[in-house]
Amino acid sequence: MDILIAGGGIGGLTAALALHAKGHSVTVYEAAPELQPLGVGINLLPHAVSVLADLGLLDDLAKIGIETQELLFFNKFGQRIWREPRGLEAGYPVPQFSLHRGELQMLLLDTVRERLGPARVREGYTYVRHTVWPSGRVGVWFDTGTSGDLYGPVVADALIGADGIHSAVRKGFYPDEGPPHWSGAVLWRAAIEDAPFLSGRSMIMAGHENQKLVVYPISQKAFEAGRSLTNWIAEIRIGKPGDLPPSRESWNKPGRFEDFMPAFKDWSFDWLDFPALAAKTPEALEFPMVDRDPVPAWSFGPVTLLGDAAHPMYPVGSNGASQAILDARALAESLADGAGDVHGALKRYEAMRLPATAALVAANRRQGPEQVMQMVEERAPDGFERLEDVISQAELEAVSSQYKQVAGFDKASVARILE
Ligand SMILES: Cc1cc2nc3c(=O)[nH]c(=O)nc-3n(C[C@H](O)[C@H](O)[C@H](O)COP(=O)(O)OP(=O)(O)OC[C@H]3O[C@@H](n4cnc5c(N)ncnc54)[C@H](O)[C@@H]3O)c2cc1C
Repeated sequence: MDILIAGGGIGGLTAALALHAKGHSVTVYEAAPELQPLGVGINLLPHAVSVLADLGLLDDLAKIGIETQELLFFNKFGQRIWREPRGLEAGYPVPQFSLHRGELQMLLLDTVRERLGPARVREGYTYVRHTVWPSGRVGVWFDTGTSGDLYGPVVADALIGADGIHSAVRKGFYPDEGPPHWSGAVLWRAAIEDAPFLSGRSMIMAGHENQKLVVYPISQKAFEAGRSLTNWIAEIRIGKPGDLPPSRESWNKPGRFEDFMPAFKDWSFDWLDFPALAAKTPEALEFPMVDRDPVPAWSFGPVTLLGDAAHPMYPVGSNGASQAILDARALAESLADGAGDVHGALKRYEAMRLPATAALVAANRRQGPEQVMQMVEERAPDGFERLEDVISQAELEAVSSQYKQVAGFDKASVARILE
């Protein structure tokens, strides 16, 4: 089957590998003139790592990503609320990796070029529109920026819209959807080499729903050299959910330290001095926290959506990239079982993934596993002497395990992927 993917992000490239592994002929059309290792830190949870391991990428991931050992939540005074082991440390068969988004994307890109052939990733092709022929095949047109005319039609058996949160493929089906939904929070993200903190493989979150800090190391190379490439995210709520965001979100907009550092000036804890870390950091990128309401359908004839194009979600619970990777596997499996019925296969893929990711979009709007920090803030805004007077271990455990089930990375779900 000839499959065309619009978008060479983590979702599109993983889909290319997964579909190629099932014997399809796949070409990725990417809008950027040249894919660059952009972004800062992301996490791959064990379910997504299992999918990539199945595609033969585990050793390569281990060379670039930190095997995250533990996740800790603190209140705004740096008092510990929760610790849970992660990845191998938690007894999963594969690690959780914290890594640089750009490095992961480049690993996927190189692997696609190696396995599918260099011509199978075409950069500088922006998807503009498509038509479904009476035969059921799809013709696609691209803007290449080189002449007034569109390039096309490129004809395929299926078109996968993996073109991110501003997906043009999705817009074709939902023209009146409007801009993404803003939570009212703004994130400032950066990465800086520094001394390791805590275990050297710890991921921490501190604060509450109106002000939060997330910090984790993202480079195995730095770890082996006794250092930490430390990714940090400072988040402040400045608006209300549903307000128009202060600017159209871009992944590369430089932020101003004076917009957020005053609020974090006292966030110097005995386990991490955030003001000192931020003072060493030359540049932080600003990004409003946005998602979209789930749509009723992703698959329309031979066309479907994947990753952020299908289900953009708040970056809570470390799930955006992981869910795009799970989509890729589900899509490849559905098309392999399809016996030539592309439309049926894409509908089956949608049935597998749309309700699951819609539940996660909703869970992330409720702060996902991080809601325990808000519970503690509301019950003990001035801090606590004894955590057990504020929140019980049972409550903490319930929130953590419920979220794992919704996001599909409880141990039973991960074991099923590796079967
Ligand atoms: C530049 C960039 C930096 C990011 N940085 C971070 C980060 O630091 N931390 C984090 O957690 N997440 C980051 N993300 C988001 C994260 O990668 C995604 O949420 C997640 O991996 C889902 O991936 P995706 O492939 O569905 O979408 P995306 O990663 O958004 O990829 C979509 C791809 O489609 C391409 N595209 C867009 N429109 C068209 C079109 N019309 N035709 C063809 N191609 C098109 C884009 O150029 C992009 O390469 C970033 C995304 C981007 C694009």
